[in-house]
Amino acid sequence: MESLEHVPVEAMDPHRFESVLAPAQYARLLDLINNGARALRGRVIWNVNSTAKGGGVVELLRPLLGYSRGAGVDARWSVIGGAPQFFELTKRLHNRLHGFDGDGGALSDHERAIYEGTLAGAAGAFAKLVRRQDVVILHDPQTAGLIPAVRATGAALIWRCHVGLDHPNRRARSAWDFLRPYVIGADAYVFSRKTFAWEGLDPAKIVVIQPTVDAFNPKNAEQTREQSLAILARAGVVPHDAVGDPIFVRSDGTPGRVDRRAQMVEVAPLRPGDRLVVQVSRWDRLKDPLGVITGFAEHIAPHVDGHLVLAGPSTESVADDPEGAGILADVNAAWHALSDEVRRRVHLASLPMADIEENAAIVNALQRHATVVVQKSLAEGFGLTVAEAMWKSRPVVGSRVGGIQDQIVNGESGVLISDPHDLAEYGSAVTMLLTDPGRAEEIGSAAHVRIRDAFLGPYSLMRYFGLIHRLITARQAADGAEPTRGAWELAASGGLGQLLDNPSTA
Ligand code: UDP
Repeated sequence: MESLEHVPVEAMDPHRFESVLAPAQYARLLDLINNGARALRGRVIWNVNSTAKGGGVVELLRPLLGYSRGAGVDARWSVIGGAPQFFELTKRLHNRLHGFDGDGGALSDHERAIYEGTLAGAAGAFAKLVRRQDVVILHDPQTAGLIPAVRATGAALIWRCHVGLDHPNRRARSAWDFLRPYVIGADAYVFSRKTFAWEGLDPAKIVVIQPTVDAFNPKNAEQTREQSLAILARAGVVPHDAVGDPIFVRSDGTPGRVDRRAQMVEVAPLRPGDRLVVQVSRWDRLKDPLGVITGFAEHIAPHVDGHLVLAGPSTESVADDPEGAGILADVNAAWHALSDEVRRRVHLASLPMADIEENAAIVNALQRHATVVVQKSLAEGFGLTVAEAMWKSRPVVGSRVGGIQDQIVNGESGVLISDPHDLAEYGSAVTMLLTDPGRAEEIGSAAHVRIRDAFLGPYSLMRYFGLIHRLITARQAADGAEPTRGAWELAASGGLGQLLDNPSTA
């Protein structure tokens, strides 16, 4: 792969949010589209990360950039490449930022040389493209090393960190120490929660923006029950003689159809009437797949009917996640070690990733078909899978870690497990929801409202626009230029400053 690849981004029409937002919120969005976008004319909003496939960052970027383009903003997406040793190192940083050891490797001068050496090519290529009037948003540890080169272009520079932990420890601090020399050069640092902000950064530059979900992409768009079943049948997750067609609508409005099959590890196929407990996530130890299985075996299966489905991407596909195949092998081994009775009720699904929207349609169908969705993470930046399931009115059992606790109001719009290692607590929450369908439905309905009111795409779009406006205005003031005045400022003045600091009250 080249040191820097450009990912095509389809424009998406932000006006479609009229159908889901409250009128006052939609009016604010319109203001932004009409006024804010105009102020960005002639500027490119560059976004750089390390993969165009798989994981939460991709899930966030596509709609954010798509709707920005739909609003008339030249928002672009570039992806850096690197050798396996670079991604082993950045995965180590990722794990440390979550407070875990990861592969236990070092973060010394040798690793710094690998890191900077890998990014040198992308830094050179990128610096030639960026102009002083532009805005650059670099995502996650993989791209922080580009900050010095981008800074030299004079563009406004945001570093967006999607991971973090509530109570920093020695491991997290070791990753901060490695990355901080680069990161401090940014004009703003964006974190998903206040508690995630690092020590040693300028507090005035710290901004909180919570992630959001796109209500209309194939991952979250409405599906009829028939459609979900047809998709799950075609993908081989719940094989049966489906009545409907396994079709969905792509983000660009064109028709899509599920044709590829998941790889299932199971004793016998699921049937359409089986009640499912589902976790969808990358094969990552921080998602605790082994805990999900063991907790199911020990604390759910003995008490109530139902099957567990652990679903994740087929492991050859996620370019920046070298640990996936190893974790899936561990999960397979744990599955084999289950008693015959429980193994029959546990299903592992590796979902096809060749067509990312086909994959999304399958995840969508699986989340909709689930009776209970779990996200038993040991650490989590935000946990998009939680918002996705809540949007679909599913009752979610999630660990009280990271952004999961911002999404779920415990006992109202989901159930939080206070100790993510406590398998009995997880088991009893799932068992309660399986045995009390009325309560499960009530929680599911509240979950949908919670996402509608605080976690849909337009909210983060507005917060990013507000931040960009702030940086551009500051830049203009520093240059002695007349700041952009007028309508655009109106878009940013409707409380955006407060939203930036306290987004969950949006
Ligand atoms: N995901 C997916 N296909 C899969 C597994 C996961 O599309 O096979 C998506 C999932 O639906 C969610 C994202 O990957 O949108 C994961 O984001 P999250 O914030 O939950 O976790 P991350 O992977 O960023 O740690």
